[in-house]
Formats: sequence, C-alpha cells, structure tokens
Amino acid sequence: ESFDDAGLHPVLLDNVKRCGYAEPTPIQKYAIPAALTGTDIVAVSQTGSGKTAAYMIPVLSRLMGKAKKLCAPKPNYADPSYNPKFSMVRAEPLVIIVVPTRELAMQIFDEARRLCYRSMLRPCVAYGGLPMGITCEELGKGCDILIATPGRLCHLMEKPELLTMSRVKYTIIDEADEMLDQDWSEELQKIMAGGDSNEDADHIYMMFSATFPKGAREMARQYMAPDYYRIR
Ligand code: AMP
Repeated sequence: ESFDDAGLHPVLLDNVKRCGYAEPTPIQKYAIPAALTGTDIVAVSQTGSGKTAAYMIPVLSRLMGKAKKLCAPKPNYADPSYNPKFSMVRAEPLVIIVVPTRELAMQIFDEARRLCYRSMLRPCVAYGGLPMGITCEELGKGCDILIATPGRLCHLMEKPELLTMSRVKYTIIDEADEMLDQDWSEELQKIMAGGDSNEDADHIYMMFSATFPKGAREMARQYMAPDYYRIR
C-alpha cells in the first residue's frame, strides 16, 4: 500500500522519496508488487496515471540488488588518457524502453535519471532527430537503461559495435497503441525479438497502452508468458 513496505531496494526507496512520491498511484499499487516478482505485464494506462514509475520502480529496484554484477561496462573516467570521443564502450543495456515520441522519451529519461541517482545504473536516451554522433557519444559512456523511439532503436540495432541486445532483461513497450497507429509494428517486432535473442530464459516483457488494439494483443500473445499479469 505504501512505498515503505513494498520491499524496494533502499537506494531506490530514497530516490522515490526524493522525487516527492508519497504514495503509490492506483496503477503503481498493482504493477509494482507484480513486477517485483518478475512477471510479464500488460497494463491499460493513461498519461498522468504514474505509469512510468509503475514500471521503472520495480525494474530498477530489482536491478539495484544485483547492479555490481550486472552493470554495463563504463569508461574509466579517472584514467588521465580518458577522452569521451575515443574511450567509448559498447552499449549493453539491461532495460529497453520503447516510446512513440521524443518528448515522451525525454520525460521518461528524466524520471529514470532521478530514480537511478546514487546507483550504478546509467540511463541513456536515443531518438530520431538527435544527431547520430551525440547518440553514439551518449551510448559510449555506458548504458544500462536505454529509452528510445522505435526507428532510432532499430537503426542502432544494426550497429553491433555500438549496441548489443544480448543482455536485455526487460523490454518495456510504452504507449503501444500510439506506435502501432504510427505504423511502427515492423520495428516493434524486431525489438521484441531482439530481447528474445538473449539466451536467458527469464526475459521480461511489459506493455503499457491506453487501448489494446489487435496488434498489441498479438504482440503480447507472441512474446509474453501465457499467464502474463493484466492491469486495467
Ligand atoms: P506518467 O503517468 O508516468 O506520465 O506520470 C505523471 C506524473 O506523475 C509525473 O510527473 C510523475 O513524476 C508523477 N508521479 C508518478 N508517480 C507518482 C506518485 N506516486 N506520487 C506523485 N506523483 C507521481
């Protein structure tokens, strides 16, 4: 019922408080306990419901528990020869969050950054329209959580020297109906399948959407465990 007894990682609980969230919103009351058990989730959600934190809080809390082991490689900033242009590492995100617009991507990135404060986890954002050079430099600083629009993400997936999907543990599709409306279904298929290329059997999918058109239901059926948790 409250964040205090949700069993969250202490660093994350601190960050939740720092964000000024006193009590979970209704969607968070359902999604957080379910996601903490590591289940696939489909949730009907509107902007403003607190849906971003509904998936971000449990996913980050789980990752913070194992961050030292799992975290992406980061460049050694302390090394005097460190140069952002040349000391890049390949992005090996653990979490992929796919969203329809750059505005939403930036908003989610901002929330991710606040919730990752004082943790080993580093969020990155990538969207169409941002120069590729800036995206590369960002990813090259190490990336644990990648928030991206579908076109830019598929573009990056074709560049294995920049990004590998082989460590992705969580694939989160936000505003799925919007992206299907904008005809991103082919890209979404590639992204969903990209997560499955991970040999880990415990890959988790979550989908958030205001409505559930046929395309979204089909993606859930194709990639999620048959007993995925439904919230509406
Ligand atoms: P969203 O639905 O994810 O776009 O979130 C809408 C707004 O609600 C964002 O500005 C969040 O920072 C805020 N928010 C999310 N969860 C909570 C909460 N538990 N208490 C208060 N505000 C929240």
